[in-house]
Amino acid sequence: MNINTNYQNIADSYLFSTVAKKVAEYAQKNPDKKIIKLGIGDVTLPLCNAVVRALKSASDEMGEKETFRGYGPEQGYDFLKNEIQNYYKQHGVNLENDEIFISDGAKSDLGNILDLFSQDNTVLVPDPVYPVYVDTNTMAGRKIIYIDANAENNFLPLPDENIKADIIYICSPNNPTGAVYDKEQLKKWIDYANKNKAVILFDSAYECFITDEKLPRSIYAIEGAKTCAIEFCSFSKMAGFTGTRCGWTVVPKALADGILNKMWLRRQTTKFNGVPYIVQKGAQAVFSPEGQKEIQENLNYYKENAKLISNCLKKHNIWHIGGTHSPYIWLKCPNGMTSWEFFDYLLTNVQIVGTPGSGFGRNGEGYFRLTSFGSKENTQEAVERLEKFFD
Ligand SMILES: *Cc1c(COP(=O)(O)O)cnc(C)c1O
Repeated sequence: MNINTNYQNIADSYLFSTVAKKVAEYAQKNPDKKIIKLGIGDVTLPLCNAVVRALKSASDEMGEKETFRGYGPEQGYDFLKNEIQNYYKQHGVNLENDEIFISDGAKSDLGNILDLFSQDNTVLVPDPVYPVYVDTNTMAGRKIIYIDANAENNFLPLPDENIKADIIYICSPNNPTGAVYDKEQLKKWIDYANKNKAVILFDSAYECFITDEKLPRSIYAIEGAKTCAIEFCSFSKMAGFTGTRCGWTVVPKALADGILNKMWLRRQTTKFNGVPYIVQKGAQAVFSPEGQKEIQENLNYYKENAKLISNCLKKHNIWHIGGTHSPYIWLKCPNGMTSWEFFDYLLTNVQIVGTPGSGFGRNGEGYFRLTSFGSKENTQEAVERLEKFFD
């Protein structure tokens, strides 16, 4: 056999392992110091009551002969697809039931969707970015070109007519920067994609953090998107499903004359056997009135944390974006420090851990990511330490 040598081209990700190593070393030398982690990219609040109740009751159903379920539809049960269809409708987007595919999370589908595209496509990825887009395409041996996200464009790059790309990744609200595209900006990408017969892979994993009705939660809120975009979303950040695993992907039938929708169905029915019934029942409960109220409380909790951090940075004139419609705050390291210099500076002076922006791409150098996924108490304490230190 011959191995897929493209794997040799994937850059080793030292980001989170180096962070963990540095923190462990510091903790060992300073056992009396309490370290606060504001670098967490995972939710911390537990599943809400409505979801837990649905998971338990579905488990009971699986233990009774009359209600037991074996293989389900690969593309998801209708009871969940209907809820998602309705969720889109509430935000002004009409989708057909068979345009929605239930997945075990956005990350798997963001990688799996590449099965549908030829290897000779050119991929356009913003820099800095969520590393999955680059690594999955590198594994497949595709050519990747980068578009700069930087302070000049508020970390929201727009299409360049001189660049020819076939597959375009957009993540909004963005990880790591927290930046959100407005409708006019997304329209430019949609026009570019339609004109160049390119496809946009739109990652909306953080749409639930958007509160401004004017900002698009789905790319399909903008005219022309159905002929050029596939959307990936997830219950992970919306309802704390990072360990429970459920998401969905929308492949419109208007896209490439319905070919991609058919191909995706074929791909999923061949390589995937669906998300567990129990998990889909849990996900369905997210859309119940009680579930909606409870997940909103959790999202508000994270948003309050983000506000605390953002207000502190504002007070001390530290340039930053994000935090309003995102759990992420992206700040410019003060005094011209590099990302890792600022990491060491925060760790040794105030015992706060964040994520160096340089780990997300070349343009992330000199920037730093803080997250609101910590506890309220820890976030408050971190802000108090920063206040004291800056004063
Ligand atoms: C967390 C995250 C996801 C969600 O991934 P899941 O596999 O659904 O847990 C997708 N995209 C981005 C950018 C993320 O940060």
